Amino acid sequence: MENASAQVIVVGAGPVGLWLAAELALAGVSTLVLERDEQRSPHSKALGLHPRTIEVLAMRGLAKQFVAEGAPVPSWHFGMLESRLDFTGLDTPYPFMLAYPQVRTEELLERRARDLGVTIVRGHSVTGLTQDDSSATVEVTGADGTSTLSARFVVGCDGAGSTVRKAAGIDFPGTDSTAYGFIGEVVLDDPPGTVISMHNAAGAVIALPIGGGRYRVTGFDPENQNAGDELTLEALRAITSRVTGTDYGMRDPSWLTRFGNATRHAATYRKDRVLLAGDAAHMHWPAGGVGLNVGVQDAMNLGWKLAAEVQGRAKAGLLDGYHDERHPVGEALAEHTLAQGALITAITPDGQALRSLLRDLIASHPDLERTLAEKLAALDITYPPSDPAAHPLVGTRAPAAEPDSIIFGALHGGRPVLLDLSGGGRSGRAAEAASAMGIETHSGPFAETGGPDWSGVGAAIIRPDGYVWRAVDADSPNLESAVIHSLDSLEATSF
Ligand SMILES: Cc1cc2nc3c(=O)[nH]c(=O)nc-3n(C[C@H](O)[C@H](O)[C@H](O)COP(=O)(O)OP(=O)(O)OC[C@H]3O[C@@H](n4cnc5c(N)ncnc54)[C@H](O)[C@@H]3O)c2cc1C
Repeated sequence: MENASAQVIVVGAGPVGLWLAAELALAGVSTLVLERDEQRSPHSKALGLHPRTIEVLAMRGLAKQFVAEGAPVPSWHFGMLESRLDFTGLDTPYPFMLAYPQVRTEELLERRARDLGVTIVRGHSVTGLTQDDSSATVEVTGADGTSTLSARFVVGCDGAGSTVRKAAGIDFPGTDSTAYGFIGEVVLDDPPGTVISMHNAAGAVIALPIGGGRYRVTGFDPENQNAGDELTLEALRAITSRVTGTDYGMRDPSWLTRFGNATRHAATYRKDRVLLAGDAAHMHWPAGGVGLNVGVQDAMNLGWKLAAEVQGRAKAGLLDGYHDERHPVGEALAEHTLAQGALITAITPDGQALRSLLRDLIASHPDLERTLAEKLAALDITYPPSDPAAHPLVGTRAPAAEPDSIIFGALHGGRPVLLDLSGGGRSGRAAEAASAMGIETHSGPFAETGGPDWSGVGAAIIRPDGYVWRAVDADSPNLESAVIHSLDSLEATSF
């Protein structure tokens, strides 16, 4: 450990730490990941990737492999309501939830991080942290003893119990668990023909195949709600039978666990040289299957900003923009997972009434259905600028209608891209100015999405994480100088 050195130390080799490390390495930042566990857990908490996460993967050229290996699920649920949310009409080249186990996601992200030059040290726990004006220092404990390591920044991607968050003195306000769900992975000798999702006065059960003849049986058992209870095969059998009328011949559990609905959110995602991402920043009931997704998107937002800061390319405010943009996303995450938890645990007559009212509202109001689908898919996220005079497209997702979108391809290197949509190359010398900053220019037209109207746009600068950074209308009197002015105004000087 004594020889390890890096500009950034990432604590935790979960999906979020691995993605962040890969993003930093892509930008040329030397990055060290410290991971407590010698081996990755064989159990996949998350079983799926939502559309915006697949877009994130597409922006770095990885989506193809994930999509080829996973199984697209065309609709999803909100709080286990019976009215499904149709993803097929969503404004994305990936209009589905991709069934994909967390263990495999982590394997692929770890391979990418290592390929990009990240050092990952397993079997080493961060046990303390201090910081001063120029560096942050972690205390690391492993089989070789305890030592200290310093870096320009430390990022806590060390999960809900984050040592980094606690050592940095970042508050984690919220609520303790008042309800518990369960997960059992078992063989079913008499399996259901389709995915089961049932909710009634006895509780809630979802049963879905996870490969190798095994099924995940998950849900809510009102008769096992003591904090210290452990899930047994007998209890899993009993709740499944009470809710569905059969236990499907379950046997041979490979994983039996419970989880609570404690919901907490870090007061800040940055304290000087310490940052937080993923579950270290937000913990919640795993309703809607979004936690991993939100965390990877945190990392996508943070990576390029932190790289610019470390390399002296960031203007004031760029790195603080990470908290400003992602903290509201964490707030919304806490809100909708609490709401879904309330629906899943609603087994009383008044709770059932609320569920059926909402079910009918969703079924009869396509806009409501779409709003909820976009929320889970993370397609509703925008980063509105503080400048009221900014172009209305600033902060929205860059348009991409197909998996092979030019825009996704142009972002593979993790740098911003200038889109010249003027048709006649009217942005002229702006392409040279962009090139001098390390920004490539791509000329449209591009396939449009059903999202915001791009018809009047002459040029746009897309951030490395796929959101519009600046936009200039085609009828601007001097498009060329307007684009050059936009390049000058970016919160980073070069890439
Ligand atoms: C039952 C359940 C089901 C879920 N289902 C879904 C789902 O379907 N979809 C979805 O998107 N999300 C789901 N989630 C949430 C998802 O699993 C998490 O959001 C995701 O794992 C968060 O990733 P992370 O990298 O932030 O943290 P983690 O995955 O918790 O990784 C943190 C890493 O840090 C390491 N670490 C911890 N402390 C230290 C330390 N002091 N020093 C060094 N290393 C340390 C840990 O060993 C771990 O490897 C589910 C969660 C649960 C509990």
